[in-house]
Amino acid sequence: MTAETTAGNDARRDPDCLFCKIVAREIPSTRVAEDDLVIAIRDIAPRAPTHILIMPRDHIASAADLTDADATIVGRIFAKAAGIARSEGIAEGGYRIVTNVGDWGGQTVDHLHFHLMGGRAFTWPPG
Ligand code: AMP
Ligand code: ZN
Repeated sequence: MTAETTAGNDARRDPDCLFCKIVAREIPSTRVAEDDLVIAIRDIAPRAPTHILIMPRDHIASAADLTDADATIVGRIFAKAAGIARSEGIAEGGYRIVTNVGDWGGQTVDHLHFHLMGGRAFTWPPG
């Protein structure tokens, strides 16, 4: 199965989802990496010098919806993040990987994605 047929599989796609449309290339984005399971794009409103979103091609609403069956996807996302951090030149300085869940978590797009942010220091705890 190709990536595009995966993206077009209705069972794994929400027709109203912004990121599903980005995965399907119906909405443009700046891709920095992609493979059969995940894509990585530059955030349209970066909050750090490097701000990349890594997401599964399949529609998963948030980290709250993950099951053991998604272990490969989640592993791939973190491996991809490590590789992108190296290629973006932020690995040595350190960086942050964040996924927001629900209203109080600050999630605004209901398609699982991990923010890979670097190029500056971050405070802890986050606001
Ligand atoms: P969250 O608020 O954690 O759900 O993250 C959603 C992120 O998606 C925000 O950082 C937005 O700036 C980003 N975003 C929204 N629309 C787009 C888009 N069309 N292309 C790239 N990033 C986007
Ligand atoms: Zn989606």
